[in-house]
Amino acid sequence: MGALATKENIARRICDFRTSCDICDNLEDSDTHALFDCPLVTEIWRESELEDKFCRSCPLAAVDSLLMAVQSLDKHQLGEFVAVMWEVWNERNRVVFGQGVVGWKKQLVARAVQFMRSYNDFKGYSSQMLATRDKVWTPPDIGIHKLNFDAVKVGVNCHGWGFAIRNYLGDVVLAGVKQGVGFSTPEIEEPSAFLLYVQLGIMVIGI
Ligand SMILES: [Zn+2]
Repeated sequence: MGALATKENIARRICDFRTSCDICDNLEDSDTHALFDCPLVTEIWRESELEDKFCRSCPLAAVDSLLMAVQSLDKHQLGEFVAVMWEVWNERNRVVFGQGVVGWKKQLVARAVQFMRSYNDFKGYSSQMLATRDKVWTPPDIGIHKLNFDAVKVGVNCHGWGFAIRNYLGDVVLAGVKQGVGFSTPEIEEPSAFLLYVQLGIMVIGI
């Protein structure tokens, strides 16, 4: 859609804007150049298994590469392709704005692929939970609300707390989540999720 903040796109709005790439001095910092052609990003693509199909061998516009990926890759490969492209764009910005880390290209691809696989695992897990939810969760009697709360470990050292209150129809009447740094033990984190409910509950419905 031409929405990426490449210099070529910015130059459409600002007269006499210098359009050369800050990384390699290529004359046109277009979306194709930023995502597929710049030497910085070809290093990243080289570490992926997608380079031959979509990068240097193929002089397409970025949008054509995307369309080709949609048509030729299966759902999981397409997810990984988009995740690598997302890392490419982030890495380009890190370098342009002076925060680049040289020599980490392999880790960037591995991180993008791992991100997609975790996402797919989580989606599979969620739909499995949804399919069995009605069998394990029962609504309370009329006039009573039911509270469920839980805590999870997020990443290496972060916590996620959450709760949901539902009525006798099973409709959610109040829910809350909070993430933060640090994870101690389930014995500490789960009551913290309950505490979150108490604090938000007092604030929202004055329990
Ligand atoms: Zn460049």
